[in-house]
Amino acid sequence: MEPLFVNKEKIASFLPMEECIAVMEKMFRSLAAGECLQPLRNIMRLPDGNGVLGMMPGHAATLGVMGIKVITVFHANSESGLPSHQGIVMLFDAKHGQPLMLFDALEVTAIRTAAVSAVATKLLSRKNSSILAIIGSGEQAKRHIEAMLLVRNIKQINIWSRSEKNAKHLVNEMSGEYNIPIHIKKNVQMAVENADIICTVTAAKEPIVMGEWIGAGTHINAVGSSTATSRELDTAAMVKSKLFADRYESLFNEAGDFLIPKKEGAVTDEHVKAEIGEVLSGTKKGREHDEEITVFKSLGIAVEDIFSAYHIYQKINSNK
Ligand code: NDP
Repeated sequence: MEPLFVNKEKIASFLPMEECIAVMEKMFRSLAAGECLQPLRNIMRLPDGNGVLGMMPGHAATLGVMGIKVITVFHANSESGLPSHQGIVMLFDAKHGQPLMLFDALEVTAIRTAAVSAVATKLLSRKNSSILAIIGSGEQAKRHIEAMLLVRNIKQINIWSRSEKNAKHLVNEMSGEYNIPIHIKKNVQMAVENADIICTVTAAKEPIVMGEWIGAGTHINAVGSSTATSRELDTAAMVKSKLFADRYESLFNEAGDFLIPKKEGAVTDEHVKAEIGEVLSGTKKGREHDEEITVFKSLGIAVEDIFSAYHIYQKINSNK
């Protein structure tokens, strides 16, 4: 048994963003129906504090597969010209436990994370949303631009990044692909205050988006932080929003954006309105009026990788 390794290029061709959005909708419905099993991710932190090895196992009963993503995160890697996230997704059949295929985790993660935000945005943002703010300029910033343009009629993009050089690089790359005005803003406030949709895609540990800057009706995808002690949104932003999760268990254990305001006594567990899958399947409400601010807290869950990997696996097998 020698499972095929599917590289970045093949993943990009077998998992286009638009298809991945549909796959992620299917995954969220399955999750809401109780058909997915996934323990909380296990994170091994290196003693020098430079990086982590994350292990994310999961089982998708309806697909008959299980798998695990093993991913490293080294935030200083850009200095060496390497990506911050690297790893492997392993797919197994869930009948006999046979290994089926291995996948480059950077590419799967990059596509599926933005596709998940697109599902949330389609569901929760105002239909007439036209100004997009992207906070950050890394891999996820690029993928979120692609994904947001697929679900809303975006007419202007505002970008803020800690490094102006990286912001310029992103704008140059995106301007070649999309015929939409893209502006680099001097600070986060200028980028977000008129935005209809905000995507925070940074490795910041302290809040970078303040509640007082967020206008009525905005939808936020808070994607960057994934530990109980780090956050991108301040307490005021959390308090004034309706909060939606990819998965309750992950949110209650890993989301500093929610857990820090909760520790401060500013919000309680009732602040969490629904999982995206519950809104998709109609058992819980999403946005109820145009003035509401909605936040989708994305933590990233194993079945996102497993559904994506299975989709690629099926396409590769049907092409044989
Ligand atoms: P990259 O390493 O490609 O980019 C990181 C970005 O974060 C850069 O724009 C960097 O700015 C910025 N940044 C880092 N530190 C700070 C800071 N203190 N303040 C402001 N900006 C900062 O990473 P990705 O784009 O792949 O990922 C972005 C974030 O999303 C990461 O935290 C990652 O862990 C998370 N993530 C979440 C997923 C999910 O499912 N929710 C999945 C994948 C990633 P600069 O250019 O100046 O260095």
